[in-house]
Amino acid sequence: MAIPIRIGISQCLLGDNVRYDGGHKLDSVLIEALGRHVEWVPVCPEVEVGLGTPREPMRLVGDLNAPRLVTINSGVDHTDAMNCFAQQRVRELEALNLSGFVFKSASPSCGIRRVPFFNTQGMETQDGVGLFARVFMEHFPDMPVEEESRLHDPQALKNFLERVRAYRRLQHQV
Ligand code: SF4
Repeated sequence: MAIPIRIGISQCLLGDNVRYDGGHKLDSVLIEALGRHVEWVPVCPEVEVGLGTPREPMRLVGDLNAPRLVTINSGVDHTDAMNCFAQQRVRELEALNLSGFVFKSASPSCGIRRVPFFNTQGMETQDGVGLFARVFMEHFPDMPVEEESRLHDPQALKNFLERVRAYRRLQHQV
């Protein structure tokens, strides 16, 4: 039997109600375009770490080299819990032989680039990387990753799929 192409995905993009506001971010364009080629492996770091839905939204603050994941209104710091969870989750994901991951853009947990970040003076930049995404990319440095917003471009989608297939061939030597 053919080995499926397994792609991890930020779970809200599949239409599951896991966002802080109790909603989702179903990306039907992406799911339609990629879904027939791959088997999805959903991950919602914020729900899986135990924060529940709905929950208070969070943002990245502090030192860009060691950002903190903190709730916006009450200032609860979830950094250590998220980093601990992420280290454990990426080890679990090893067993599933993922060939890529599609992350939700701009999320303080899932974004892979240009995530809003607030420095110690409270100034906002777009230099952040989501905490779970950072641990994932450090653990799987060669795995193709992309954000859903980029994959609406047909050429970017084609390139991503090609990278995923090449990575999978290396994984399985096929
Ligand atoms: S962006 Fe990530 S943490 Fe936020 S709801 Fe989606 S999957 Fe969960």
